[in-house]
Amino acid sequence: MIFRPLKYVKYAQKAVDKLSAIQPDFREKFDTDNYASWFYNQSSETLKLYSDDKEIYFLYIPVGTFSQNTNTWMWAWANEDSVEPRKFRTLKIKELGEKKKYENLINAHFDGDKYTGWELTSIAFDIIGGIGTYRVISDHLEVYFLLTEQISKEEVEKIESELIECSAHGKLRKAFICQHLNTEYKTGFEEAFDTYRGMELNEDDDLQAWCEECERERLKTDGWSDESMEFAKIKLVCERCYFAIKEFNLNAKKH
Ligand SMILES: [Zn+2]
Ligand SMILES: [Zn+2]
Repeated sequence: MIFRPLKYVKYAQKAVDKLSAIQPDFREKFDTDNYASWFYNQSSETLKLYSDDKEIYFLYIPVGTFSQNTNTWMWAWANEDSVEPRKFRTLKIKELGEKKKYENLINAHFDGDKYTGWELTSIAFDIIGGIGTYRVISDHLEVYFLLTEQISKEEVEKIESELIECSAHGKLRKAFICQHLNTEYKTGFEEAFDTYRGMELNEDDDLQAWCEECERERLKTDGWSDESMEFAKIKLVCERCYFAIKEFNLNAKKH
């Protein structure tokens, strides 16, 4: 059974109404109903709609999935199989759920029905925003997206060309770390700027981190120098490896 307190039901309805008010305009503007096929790429978080004679691309944030086999919803943040960096944006929904005590926004997965996907996507739209939403169905799995902007094929190719192929995690955004950072023992974790999983990065910003010892070397010369760079031997990892190392270093619990 799904517990749906009245306060939640009212909130959900408001969100559904809000999305219902903008979604028809979105569909008309981009003519999204008139494409024969779809394809989405988790690594670049891009959705392509296409027919023989036309195609259109969007950047997306994954919201969650609904299994028609088990009638269960799963939030994107809880989905271990998904590699989309921006899936963690949906943790904002969980935060609101915790504040308001809305079980459906807190629990990773729960039972639902054929309305669940749109209801939760409406709530995601209300909290995170976007230009519209889209759903694809593949093998009895409904996959829901918030579309954040339309982009060109060239932009998609540029995003994909800048990804790194990680042997553990697949194609993801690049991150830079010193040679000492690892997930075996703690080294301290210094960053170029505060980061969080799934964050938007400016063109010139890269995820960059180094250990305590590198920080000491760096401070000796008042910033990076040839010597401290030589000591750090910065290397490339994927975004997921980066945050795994960050969490390992910042968490009190020992592995
Ligand atoms: Zn180091
Ligand atoms: Zn990795």
